[in-house]
Amino acid sequence: MGLFNTLPTFQRGIHPGDFKDLTRHLPIERMPFSAELTIPLSQHLGAPSKPRVKVGDTVQRGQLIAEPGGFVSIGQHAPVTGTVTAIEPRPHPTGRMVESIIIATDPFSPQTFYNEHPMDWEALSPRELISLIQHGGFVGLGGAAFPTHVKLSVPEGKHARFLIVNGVECEPYLTSDHRVMLEEYDDLFYGIRILQKILDVRQVYIGVENNKEDAIEVLRNHVPDDMACEVIALETKYPQGAEKMLIEAVLHREVPSGKLPIDVEVVVNNSGTITGIGHMFRFGQPLIERVVTVTGPGIKRPANVRVPIGTPLTELLNFCGGITDDTRQILFGGPMMGAPQARLDVPILKGTSGILCLTENEINVREEYPCIRCLRCVDVCPVGLNPSRLGALAKSRDYEHMLDFHVMDCVECGSCSYICPSNIPLVQRFRVAKGLLREQQARNKAS
Ligand code: SF4
Ligand code: SF4
Repeated sequence: MGLFNTLPTFQRGIHPGDFKDLTRHLPIERMPFSAELTIPLSQHLGAPSKPRVKVGDTVQRGQLIAEPGGFVSIGQHAPVTGTVTAIEPRPHPTGRMVESIIIATDPFSPQTFYNEHPMDWEALSPRELISLIQHGGFVGLGGAAFPTHVKLSVPEGKHARFLIVNGVECEPYLTSDHRVMLEEYDDLFYGIRILQKILDVRQVYIGVENNKEDAIEVLRNHVPDDMACEVIALETKYPQGAEKMLIEAVLHREVPSGKLPIDVEVVVNNSGTITGIGHMFRFGQPLIERVVTVTGPGIKRPANVRVPIGTPLTELLNFCGGITDDTRQILFGGPMMGAPQARLDVPILKGTSGILCLTENEINVREEYPCIRCLRCVDVCPVGLNPSRLGALAKSRDYEHMLDFHVMDCVECGSCSYICPSNIPLVQRFRVAKGLLREQQARNKAS
């Protein structure tokens, strides 16, 4: 019998092996600055940032180099002191070429911060705090890279009653949030206070899966006496880190189809993001670096590394001893939702929670067989969809009809593909279908 017996969780879901032993015990280390960093103006959902520097400018570490390009957009900052050598399209982890600011690091600079002092957040209004978070460059660090200030801007007529801190990290292999909660809980609790003020919320829950017992204990031991904050140990189950699943697990509230967490009076934010916000208000440092788990059987020295944003992937891999000869695939993110990389000259982004190096053993391409109607995919789908039916519609390209089966509610967790005995690439087909349907909807709106 473990310390945690019957623990809260959501309905359905899967239990993949967690493979976190490779890195869960490894303290965060810091890697040296690369000679050149690439800061894509688009590394978040929404409009690209707009450059505020030009080629030849010298920039200091932490200095604003691009401002938000709209409401759903963020500021970007120099992760190093150096010189802007180019502003041009460069390879991006999405596979596209993306306009980027290139900075050559000054090898003789002491790399002190542009503006290192605490901010008097208690004197600021919620609106001013939200603006600082936007200009500080914050996006969800769990991987989605949605601008944080948008989530914190509660629409007129709605009200948040609960803040849920997402410390679930349910993707196998990844341990960056785990290490941040263990090592940087002071910044986390500081950031929670700021979000409490912005949202005018008293009650906070931190949801952590029970495969991180040490983090649960550390957080419980350090909750400030005057903070209404409960650390909830959750059963380990995938995809509990998806917002709707986490709300169901922690509060037993269901977010209806097509609605958002705020519709059930909840705001969810990733623990790493809140920690970064706390750090900015304590020390004046915007989001210019993040913790990345570099892991998998294909990396020689697995590690949790604090990496300047824009560091080339190759340099991070080299810092971790390089990849083994039998490495066949490198993913940005975990094995369930991560994005395979076709090239290594891409930069680490704000949303890069992990780099997963897989060998032939893990990526055996399996032959696809016809659906045997076992309905295992229905049993595991966390949002109650019928992936078997959706898969058949996707295969016949009947995308319109997929809307009737709520394909847009799919959180793309991949649980259905994982469980399918016929190896049908269900989630891959749903991603394509959703992309095409969104394009169609945008065209309809424009005409
Ligand atoms: S799990 Fe695969 S084989 Fe079984 S019903 Fe779903 S799609 Fe068909
Ligand atoms: S249909 Fe979507 S939400 Fe449901 S299990 Fe498959 S990928 Fe996950």
